[in-house]
Amino acid sequence: MKFWFVVGSQDLYGPEVLATVASRAAEMAAEMSKSLPYELLYKVTARSDAEVCAIVREANYDTDCAGVVTWCHTFSPSKMWLNGLDALTKPWCHLATQYNVEIPNDEIDMDFMNLNQAAHGDREHGFAGARLRKPRKIIAGHWRDGKVLARLGEWMRTAAAAALSRELRVMRFGDNMREVAVTEGDKIEAQLRLGWRVNTWAVGDLVAAMGAVTEGDIDELMDEYRAAYDFATDDIAAVRYQAREELAIRSMLDAEGCRAFTNTFQDLYGMDQLPGLATQHLMAQGFGFGAEGDWKTAALTAVMKAMGPQGASGFMEDYTYHLVKGREYSLGAHMLEVCPSLAAGKPRIETHPLGIGMNRDDPARLVFEGKAGKALVASIIDVGGRLRLIVQDIECVKPIMEMPNLPVARVMWRAEPDLTTGVECWVTAGGAHHTVLSYDVTPTQLRDFARIMGIEFVHITAETSPEKLEDELFLRDLAWKLR
Ligand code: MN
Repeated sequence: MKFWFVVGSQDLYGPEVLATVASRAAEMAAEMSKSLPYELLYKVTARSDAEVCAIVREANYDTDCAGVVTWCHTFSPSKMWLNGLDALTKPWCHLATQYNVEIPNDEIDMDFMNLNQAAHGDREHGFAGARLRKPRKIIAGHWRDGKVLARLGEWMRTAAAAALSRELRVMRFGDNMREVAVTEGDKIEAQLRLGWRVNTWAVGDLVAAMGAVTEGDIDELMDEYRAAYDFATDDIAAVRYQAREELAIRSMLDAEGCRAFTNTFQDLYGMDQLPGLATQHLMAQGFGFGAEGDWKTAALTAVMKAMGPQGASGFMEDYTYHLVKGREYSLGAHMLEVCPSLAAGKPRIETHPLGIGMNRDDPARLVFEGKAGKALVASIIDVGGRLRLIVQDIECVKPIMEMPNLPVARVMWRAEPDLTTGVECWVTAGGAHHTVLSYDVTPTQLRDFARIMGIEFVHITAETSPEKLEDELFLRDLAWKLR
């Protein structure tokens, strides 16, 4: 994917100035690209309404164009941008920069001023965005500045993940866990806003696909498991069964072009084990997953894995608290399915009874401790009429106890602003027990993602209070109903 650099100007400046603008723009795009995760391609110095409309049409229909970055080197009257920007369907970033760093004391005269007018050119350009209420990322600063480039790169990764979101297909095996509310939601709204095609396939089809997996294919995948994980079980048959499940799920995902899936322990008809290791290893390869039919978290996991530079995001669930004063932590885990991209060390393959759901064999799963460090948890919920993305800043720690009898992967963290206030904020916002935990996606990226997709964004930080959040959500409810 590429990003397009579109520079604003007008004919009044004459060919000499316009040629200078164009050559500088090409130079800037090429230089910036060296420090960005995607190429920034200089496309045009737009001088008229027709040129803006033409480049927007081209961007909208180019499947490789993940977004448009605009900048006004000179003054570029915004009426010539209104129709084009209004029609733009790709993510838009307004880079308010200028070619030179310094005001050159001796050199500066009216010619210099006419050429280097970004300070008021970008204000006129900004008005167009504000007047259109057009969602846009705004980054101001010099184009060689490391912070500016890092922010632009962060936005590019988000915009590319937005493109993935718009193509995303989610495969569901079985429905939601019976009676659970928060994992339900309006799939049509999710498809319209986020692009997610969420559809169901029969567990019987998966069982048939499992039957078609060969012992040779299982042998190969077992080699991969041995390379990546420590075997802490003698029940090789159980591990091989997980390999069979993984290969069958993978073949169905690939056949349908799906990058995320769900299942539920209440619907495993014809299967001997709930997929554990199978799901974990698929997540490690970038597939999104949500348990108990949670298609929203499955899709968000896939999007966030693509968004972060290391893919260190995974399905998570808040389980239980350590409420000892001064050492307050959340313990997150799942029945089985925690992504090894969150692991601090080499995961172990273990087999244990499931303890929930009846009449199944002991499933093999990966057991490990999560990494320490700054992270976030994200939850997407349907609040009726709109989707709300809730993000909470957290600090992960090495689990403060060994928990030798806990047979699943575990992550321990302290939520911002503190455990109990953080819980009050989360509960106020309606955040789910299922989340995506990420070490490398930033809150800024998720805010940008929500803006690009047109969904609500709630960020719980060290500064958030439940009282202010309650008032804010009340007012937002009114605002969203008017949209
Ligand atoms: Mn769950």
